[in-house]
Amino acid sequence: MPGRRSPWMDQDLDDFRDLARTFCEKEITPNVDRFIANKEVDRDLWNKAGDVGLLCCSIPEEYGGGGGTFAHEAILIEEQARALDTSWGVSLHNGIVAHYILAYGTEEQKHEWLPKLASGECVGAIAMTEPGTGSDLQSVKTKAIREGDEYVINGSKIFITNGRQADLVITVAKTNPEEAAAGISLILVPTSTPGFSRGKHLDKVGMKGQDTAELIYEDVRVPVSNLLGTEEGQGFIQLMQQLPQERLIVAVANVAAMELSLDLTLQYVHEREAFGRPIWGFQNTKFKLAEVATEARVARSFVDECIALHLEGKLDIPTVAMAKLWCSERAQKVADKCLQLFGGYGYMNEYPIARIWADLRVSQIYAGTSEIMKEIISRSLPAPS
Ligand SMILES: Cc1cc2nc3c(=O)[nH]c(=O)nc-3n(C[C@H](O)[C@H](O)[C@H](O)COP(=O)(O)OP(=O)(O)OC[C@H]3O[C@@H](n4cnc5c(N)ncnc54)[C@H](O)[C@@H]3O)c2cc1C
Repeated sequence: MPGRRSPWMDQDLDDFRDLARTFCEKEITPNVDRFIANKEVDRDLWNKAGDVGLLCCSIPEEYGGGGGTFAHEAILIEEQARALDTSWGVSLHNGIVAHYILAYGTEEQKHEWLPKLASGECVGAIAMTEPGTGSDLQSVKTKAIREGDEYVINGSKIFITNGRQADLVITVAKTNPEEAAAGISLILVPTSTPGFSRGKHLDKVGMKGQDTAELIYEDVRVPVSNLLGTEEGQGFIQLMQQLPQERLIVAVANVAAMELSLDLTLQYVHEREAFGRPIWGFQNTKFKLAEVATEARVARSFVDECIALHLEGKLDIPTVAMAKLWCSERAQKVADKCLQLFGGYGYMNEYPIARIWADLRVSQIYAGTSEIMKEIISRSLPAPS
């Protein structure tokens, strides 16, 4: 909201916002159309971001990161949104992939991979979803069967963000296919490993510049030391522990999209005229934008509270599910109301509101669908005493 500053901001974060904004204005805004045409960002965007300290900003400095917190990640997400970009899969690389390694990696794994993720030498991805299963993660079919000192991985993954550019894929696989959740492990798979291959870029409704791909594993052999965690079978618990941050990332991006939609629409309705007056002059426009401003403000307050809780390590799973559910569904409605006020121009891809509207749709699907969020929330509701 204009003039409103999140309570978790401080001077260090203001400086970081300046850095992120300058980077996005220079390296992203002028290039977004090319990213969309290529269905991926330029590979050297990662290296440039690493050079200025925007990668792994919430990873400790001893592993090459910026030594910041989730607040730094939130700012980068907001500034990327402000630059009208959804192509760069940095929030997944920074806020998800690097954090699995930080949380569960051995010292050797952390020293091997985190500095490379922080410099941009290495791009990260995480592969859970398969052609046959997404929401029901316990049913993954990809297998990692131990043979001596190696895991032999076979299977396929779909809809994987950063899939084509990734150098390292955290792969969700069954080390014990006889078990459901208890059979799941996370395994670090360098994409240079023989037997690993990728399908083409997937053609999406929105987020057209984001690299989203299918991954194929055919007798991919990695050392057993690539297991993430101290023993096999911990993968499902690790996923459940890390998914809240992933869901908060989505909610932060949704709020940024709501605020941007409001700003863009306010500007447009004051410039565009119909029946001899600006579109703003119609009561319907004022009322719709009053609704949008209220929805954006409520979402901002809730997400600010969630960020503050997360910074204290107190954000619980049902609360973040509420944030993801509410912000993703509300953002879609906000973008839809705003698009309508642009008339036919709102349906043209060259108008940012059209892209925001199309890009937002997936927020109700990835990182756990709205229906799965409702499952999680409903399980937390108390039974009557
Ligand atoms: C652009 C994009 C990027 C993505 N990035 C990644 C990534 O980087 N890594 C990754 O692993 N995955 C990624 N995904 C996959 C995403 O997480 C899954 O698509 C999502 O979890 C849903 O799984 P599914 O597509 O198999 O749908 P399904 O699980 O088949 O669901 C189909 C429908 O059934 C509903 N449903 C399922 N179970 C229940 C239930 N118990 N109760 C009520 N309704 C239910 C769902 O809500 C949905 O409406 C991405 C997807 C997209 C589109």
